[in-house]
Amino acid sequence: MNKKALVIGHSGQDGAYLVDLLEQSNHLVFGVSSKLVYTNSDLVIELGDLSNPAYCTHLLKTIQPDYLFYLAAVHQSSVDASVDDLPFYQQTLTVNANNYMNLLNGIQMLELSTKVFYAASSHVFAGTTSKVQNESTPFEPVSIYGISKVLGIHLSDLYRNKGVHIAVGILYNHESPKRASKFVSKKIVETAVAIKLGTKSELVLGDLNATIDWGYAPDYMYAALSLLQTGKSENYIISSGQLHTVGDFVKSVFQKLNLDWSSFVKTDKNILLKKSTNILLGDNQKIQNDINWKPSVSFDEMIEILVNSELEVQK
Ligand code: NAP
Repeated sequence: MNKKALVIGHSGQDGAYLVDLLEQSNHLVFGVSSKLVYTNSDLVIELGDLSNPAYCTHLLKTIQPDYLFYLAAVHQSSVDASVDDLPFYQQTLTVNANNYMNLLNGIQMLELSTKVFYAASSHVFAGTTSKVQNESTPFEPVSIYGISKVLGIHLSDLYRNKGVHIAVGILYNHESPKRASKFVSKKIVETAVAIKLGTKSELVLGDLNATIDWGYAPDYMYAALSLLQTGKSENYIISSGQLHTVGDFVKSVFQKLNLDWSSFVKTDKNILLKKSTNILLGDNQKIQNDINWKPSVSFDEMIEILVNSELEVQK
């Protein structure tokens, strides 16, 4: 029988790739976000509020999923304007942790054998002084987003001890053509292609020396699915294990478009990248050892994909 997968946050960047991957491997897929539901099966599910435990239980009882992927999140880049306010903090904790707990509680109460994947973030290490982070690096969040993801990891520990099977992915930055324009990677590619096509004349960025561990989103969702398929119930760093600067990214994008980047790129120190106090570099040795996962797409290949896709969009 086809396995059933429930994807919370199916409409985001990662959710879209995960749904593709699940469908390619003949899963029955159910997606729930704050605004949309999706399924490729005959079973109809209703849109509801995951902060309501009764809705979570109903969803789980109806679907009885083999896999649950919790990708839903609120983060600074997904909302507009000033976010340092209490309602935003409350929403972040609700979506990134509390609603996740409701689902874990439902799985436990209904005694389902659902295997769970929780998408955590490298931001749990934001204040670290460790040059490379692994699964043993102490958490040092410096934002409400980071705190919410630490909470999600601790909730995963708690429910593992109650018998729920949970793989946590501590995900480092990952990009794709589906990234929202607010992210620096997307801004660089969109603007460079517009310059190539003559619709824009310059690209203004903040710090070209900012250093990021960048991976390719479909690779990371493949890792998430593989962790559940291989029965892992632990925490895993999912990262490229390599650092590149924003400047490297810019040069590579412009080079692919046969443009001299230095003629078009200006820096403005008033444009701050999302503040993460230290350089985050993930050691992905554990996931390599345990399930033989490693990124299939290099930094350069990823940029080629991003540029070609954006050329198609803007032509
Ligand atoms: P994304 O594009 O921002 O997608 C977020 C998803 O969460 C959307 O489907 C959104 O749906 C859903 N969502 C938001 N509020 C919700 C709510 N109240 N109830 C149900 N769904 C809700 O994020 P992503 O880039 O795909 O990232 C996926 C996960 O990986 C997130 O948990 C993120 O924190 C984590 N992560 C991502 C990165 C990265 O580089 N992309 C790095 C580290 C960790 P609506 O639009 O309908 O609300």
